Amino acid sequence: MSQQCKNCKSFAINPHLHGREPAKDLDLCDVCYWRTRSKTKEDQAIINATVELYNDAVWALEEDYNLDGDVGRSLKKVVNAIEAHPHWKDLV
Ligand SMILES: [Zn+2]
Repeated sequence: MSQQCKNCKSFAINPHLHGREPAKDLDLCDVCYWRTRSKTKEDQAIINATVELYNDAVWALEEDYNLDGDVGRSLKKVVNAIEAHPHWKDLV
């Protein structure tokens, strides 16, 4: 029986992965685990804004929503830059 995150109901609780400390906060998913460890509200605001930007960019690219060449290339650069961060997958 998998446990669900107490914050967001995600089942993505992987205490042995993503640099988590194995026995800490086992009722938090990997995303919420790291969100609770953000140092300041500013950090959290940056993370939230980046997740939002990333999701919008991926959505726009997938829908091909009125993108001309330059806009599409710029969005792709944003997505690539964000995905290049080693802990990015822990946040989305
Ligand atoms: Zn969660």
